[in-house]
Amino acid sequence: MESMKAKIQKIFKERFGEPGTLYASAGRINLIGEHTDYNGGFVFPGAIDKVIMAEIKPNGLDKVRVYSIDINEYAEFGLKEEDAPSQSWARYIFGICREIQKRGGTVKGFDAVFAGNVPLGAGLSSSAALESCFAFALNDLYNSNSIDKFELAKIGQSTEHNYCGVNCGIMDQFASVFGRKGNLMRLDCRSMEYEYFPFNPEGYKLVLVDSRVKHELKDSPYNKRRESCERVAKMLGVETLRDATMENLNAIKGEITAEDYFRAKFVIEEKQRVLDVCDALNAGDYETVGKKMYETHEGLSKDYEVSCEELDFLNDVAKTLGVTGSRIMGGGFGGCTINLVKNDLHDDFIEVAVRKFNEKYGHEPKIYDVVISDGARKIEEAE
Ligand code: ADP
Ligand code: MG
Repeated sequence: MESMKAKIQKIFKERFGEPGTLYASAGRINLIGEHTDYNGGFVFPGAIDKVIMAEIKPNGLDKVRVYSIDINEYAEFGLKEEDAPSQSWARYIFGICREIQKRGGTVKGFDAVFAGNVPLGAGLSSSAALESCFAFALNDLYNSNSIDKFELAKIGQSTEHNYCGVNCGIMDQFASVFGRKGNLMRLDCRSMEYEYFPFNPEGYKLVLVDSRVKHELKDSPYNKRRESCERVAKMLGVETLRDATMENLNAIKGEITAEDYFRAKFVIEEKQRVLDVCDALNAGDYETVGKKMYETHEGLSKDYEVSCEELDFLNDVAKTLGVTGSRIMGGGFGGCTINLVKNDLHDDFIEVAVRKFNEKYGHEPKIYDVVISDGARKIEEAE
């Protein structure tokens, strides 16, 4: 962190002179609660100790001048709709400015230099970190923090929709904006209510193993999953599967396809698993948390069928070594597993997982240790 900050400050000074203010926001993990968002269920994310950090200063102009250290590119753009920059990284920042303006907020010209250590495209939501960092900063610099935090998350989400072509839900931006050290957040995707739960796994680490595979599938598997869920909900006469129980589902088992049955079963069980994990965390029972993570993996793999060989392999390696919990994180068909690992097993697990995966698939997975940390914030001098 210190070196990232020093680097940003040095480059900012070289390019723009007098220092500005430093802001940061975080990437995120989701401990449990997968494919639940569009079924009105719960997700359970937390911000991590990997951030995008930006130094920002009003420049008295009607344009934004911004340098990306990691991409080593400079962009300059105005604040009107037709001024959209061509670089994709800059479109995130432009989108944030526009979405604030569309909501009646103020954005004027500024200079910025930014960098980050959220791995790009690994499922940790570097884009949400980038959006939240600038949304938080512009709220602080130009709007006296009058835009509430939920709106900041929506500003990030709308940026993805309207300027980056990604039709995402709210979880990533929510986690990045609301993240709090030592806490996960249960977000109710139906009511948008949320609650913090303590996450201080003393004696354990959270480790992501990125398979670095992404299977592109025909026939839009996500839409098919959604359609199954919607069909079953309709049959049950409920708006979403959030309102269904296993008893309800079993009562119509004979009237729906086996495929739809197993899709709905996963969603209904996953909703309950999130609640069980919340209880376990309140009791400080990380063994139960781990058990639920394995159950989620099993459900995603066998019932929802969104796993792939590589992720099942990583899950098996974890299970064989006695890792406390392991599951696919994210939509599936590639990406990461998230693992809850006892400290004394940590190094062995990484060594074995990397070696065995490499032997079988010909490339090494990437490993990211993560700690649940603060989300969007102003960086104080001491940080
Ligand atoms: P992720 O799953 O990490 O959110 P996305 O494809 O949604 O992956 O977002 C990645 C994009 O966000 C990058 O292509 C880039 O435009 C932008 N981005 C993320 N991190 C940085 C960074 N450190 N510097 C510049 N741009 C970044
Ligand atoms: Mg993203």
